[in-house]
Amino acid sequence: MGLRRQMIGYVIAVSAGCVLLGVWALQRGLEQAYHSAELEEARDDFRHLLAVLDGEIQHREAMLREWRLWPDLRRHLRQPDPAFVARSFDPVYLSQIGLEGLMLLDAQGRVALQAWARADGGRWADSLPAGTRAWIASPAVDAPACGLIGSPDYLVLLCRRALAEPGLKDGAQGVLVMAERLDSHFLRALERRVGLPVRLVPAAQAQPLAGDIVEPMASAELPGAGPWSLRYLDEHLLMHWPLPMAGEPAQQVALEVQHGREVARRGAQELHDRRLVMVLLGVLLSVGLGVLLDRLVISRVVRMRRELAGIREQRQWHAAVTLQGADEINELGAGINHLLSVIDRQVYELEKLSMTDALTGLPNRRSFSQRLGLALRQQHRSGASLCLILIDVDHFKRYNDHYGHAAGDQALQTLARCLQHVARRPTDLPARLGGEEFALLLQDTDAEGALHQAEKLRELLAREAVVHEAQPDPGGAGTGRLTVSIGLAMFAMPDSADTLYQRADAALYAAKAAGRDRIECA
Ligand code: GH3
Ligand code: MG
Ligand code: MG
Repeated sequence: MGLRRQMIGYVIAVSAGCVLLGVWALQRGLEQAYHSAELEEARDDFRHLLAVLDGEIQHREAMLREWRLWPDLRRHLRQPDPAFVARSFDPVYLSQIGLEGLMLLDAQGRVALQAWARADGGRWADSLPAGTRAWIASPAVDAPACGLIGSPDYLVLLCRRALAEPGLKDGAQGVLVMAERLDSHFLRALERRVGLPVRLVPAAQAQPLAGDIVEPMASAELPGAGPWSLRYLDEHLLMHWPLPMAGEPAQQVALEVQHGREVARRGAQELHDRRLVMVLLGVLLSVGLGVLLDRLVISRVVRMRRELAGIREQRQWHAAVTLQGADEINELGAGINHLLSVIDRQVYELEKLSMTDALTGLPNRRSFSQRLGLALRQQHRSGASLCLILIDVDHFKRYNDHYGHAAGDQALQTLARCLQHVARRPTDLPARLGGEEFALLLQDTDAEGALHQAEKLRELLAREAVVHEAQPDPGGAGTGRLTVSIGLAMFAMPDSADTLYQRADAALYAAKAAGRDRIECA
């Protein structure tokens, strides 16, 4: 897999991992925080509800403490006065002061006075169980003055106080009772004050389930109630608090309060928002890291690899990869460039060696063939004259045999020097074709010039005066020194490299045949 793909995969995997980890940690933290905040808020709201309820009860207890000192009530107990009752406790007045009903019991527990704010008020009082009646009729000074009686459909808060108490003058025997139905009207008023929906349910419905939170929650005015339980529902939290029933509890009743889940919803929204932010951060991180890695590493390595591939394919060892920056990748590039320069030098040396004759230092046959092909192509284009001169040492075998191979080599080197001397122009190509055969390729040179150059070569060699006493006829045509025979051919259409060579070779053969040490033209 490519470096870029690997890096992109790695960056995406790392960023995704970071985002997942972050989201997990965030979720854990936020959920816990909002969960406890929601629970705490639910507890606080319920405590507030209890405080309001306690306040209601305390308000009635205060009224009771005050009214108990009302002399007319005592008098009425001793001597019933219907006019006093009608005058003092008419329904409108009772409603105004928020009292649903009032009863005065005599020492025997009989009802000496009763007044109700509503026409059907007090009907519940007719069917009270004996235990509840006893509880109403015998209030203890140190026991709570108020309690609840009835059922979820008909729950009544009763507060009662004995008229006769120690230290009270004119202490008539009797009990003053105030009643307040915890009906929908009362509950709505409670709801308005605490801001939560409140209702009464049978205590059986309020039994905690597995997973509910159950903890003690006390009210100052209604001891024995609870425990408080809280259940998590999707839409709201459901809180229950079984109420204590005074006297003989016919049916247990529980207060049920619904608490909205705004806190949880806010938490979920915040979690969603933050999760989104984290995902965006993750994407930004991957893109940022990706771009950074791409610019710092990948694109530079990929470009270096591409440039290197181009250099290798085209064998341009003299070229170099682009260097950028001052880091390890740059050092790597510099190292590659150094190796390329070494390769370039060595390739150049090798090519030079493969094109050069080791003994004379002249271009060899391979080099000659290439240059001849090149020269012919140029000739085709320019139409300039081109001459091929072939040179062969005369009786060289005899020279070797006579003076030895080493001397033969030296003689060949002498001839090569002469040839180099003749080939002055950059376009002239002297070459050793093999053994004691040499060539001279002259571009832009006409027949006359070529002949002149060939003569010059003979002269130069003559001037070197390499003694060759082993010639067959040193005294006659033989010169007693080393000579060469030369065949010369001018390019003429439709010559190819081969035909030009063959014609020059034929001229050389003719020069040999004609007695050697001479020039023959094709
Ligand atoms: P001709 O005049 O007809 O050319 O006769 P020749 O003796 O020069 O020709 P031949 O082809 O018979 O002999 C060529 C000799 O050149 C044979 C070989 O000993 C010698 N020779 C070829 N290459 C080298 C070389 O590199 N060094 C030396 N010392 N001698 C060489
Ligand atoms: Mg020969
Ligand atoms: Mg020869």
